[in-house]
Amino acid sequence: MTTATLFTRIINREIPADILYQDDQCIVINDIAPQAPVHMLVIPRQPMPRLSDASQDDRALLGHLMWVAGEVARQHGVDDAFRLVVNNGEDAGQTVFHLHLHVLANKGSDQTFSEANL
Ligand code: 5GP
Repeated sequence: MTTATLFTRIINREIPADILYQDDQCIVINDIAPQAPVHMLVIPRQPMPRLSDASQDDRALLGHLMWVAGEVARQHGVDDAFRLVVNNGEDAGQTVFHLHLHVLANKGSDQTFSEANL
């Protein structure tokens, strides 16, 4: 039996999180340790450790995750300026091995993106 990832446990409501959006393919939550005034995580329900583990069959899901990132950016009024980050692999800073897209925006802050940690 494989152990559920942290994000699967959040999706299954075993661990609390601010849920901002959900549909049949993914969920969007606030990051617990935000690196910018807006820091959301777009997470597929189907766990995939890294982006580089995606197969051709995952292309529609990957496109959907991108669309959702834009949609939640619109819903939070940051669609004019946001960053989308995927850390792939430990050496790239990935700490949770369940694919997720970081949506980062500096709404209401003077901080520039170059000062953000991600
Ligand atoms: P990574 O470093 O893998 O690209 O990103 C993992 C992200 O998950 C980090 O930004 C981290 O703050 C966030 N994170 C880790 N544990 C939790 C948690 O329990 N709840 C939430 N909402 N975010 C988490």
